[in-house]
Amino acid sequence: MQLNTSEAHEILFYVKDNNKTQRLSHQPGAPRFVIRVPLEVRFQPTHGSYIPNRRILEDGLTHPVFQPNVKEAASTDLINPWGIRDYLFSGEWELGGFLAFSGWTGRFGIGNGELGRDSKKAPRTVGVFDWCDAVTEDLLEWKRLLVAALLLPQSEWESLGTDFPARKVQELQKPFPLKIHWLDGLPMGTVTLETTLDAIVASIQIDKLEGAEFQRCARPNCQRVFKLESRHERLYCDTDCAHYMAVKNSRARAAKKKSSRNRTSRQRRTPRS
Ligand SMILES: [Zn+2]
Repeated sequence: MQLNTSEAHEILFYVKDNNKTQRLSHQPGAPRFVIRVPLEVRFQPTHGSYIPNRRILEDGLTHPVFQPNVKEAASTDLINPWGIRDYLFSGEWELGGFLAFSGWTGRFGIGNGELGRDSKKAPRTVGVFDWCDAVTEDLLEWKRLLVAALLLPQSEWESLGTDFPARKVQELQKPFPLKIHWLDGLPMGTVTLETTLDAIVASIQIDKLEGAEFQRCARPNCQRVFKLESRHERLYCDTDCAHYMAVKNSRARAAKKKSSRNRTSRQRRTPRS
């Protein structure tokens, strides 16, 4: 997987004075501006590991204890949030569960964004493996929610509340922290993130701010989501899926032709016999 040390995007911060924005944050009389500023997204994961057999109850959520690794934390490696999102969506980690996923990405979230189970549903007296499965199930639910968010326009995210827990939908809509400073006389925006969830949510929100659209691959059993880069209609996530489906479709067409030829020749034979 390719990892850039940072991801820069140019975003036009554009604020419309309509009822919706007033409802969210606008105070009458507060001045507003439109500025264009490049954004740098810096995700420095919180290194460490989850302790599978220890759990803690906090704010109605039972979650595994996260042990930060001070030595690793000293390293300044940044991870590309888009790369980590692809990794989550790919499902490559699923066999190893949430422990495999967090081995690379560090702490998943904090508070409502932490991996765990709603305490009412959390298994109380279960073995470590069942508990790990329950937490992995939670990570899979995050994955489904984040994929759904990427496929939907931002204005429809609220509707995700019918299929997903409110605490998760709230995390999805949480504003990302942006600081604007000067770099060689020009404005530069920096978004600094410390947990995997915040990094992935910011990547989705930035894609939405840029007006990007996404689509699910049309190959059955391929769950990947890809960005629509041009007006040219595209059905599959990559050339492998496109090739697989082209071969499959042409075999299906050939089989259909053959069976209809057999039928016709049988029909032709019938009157003579
Ligand atoms: Zn595909």
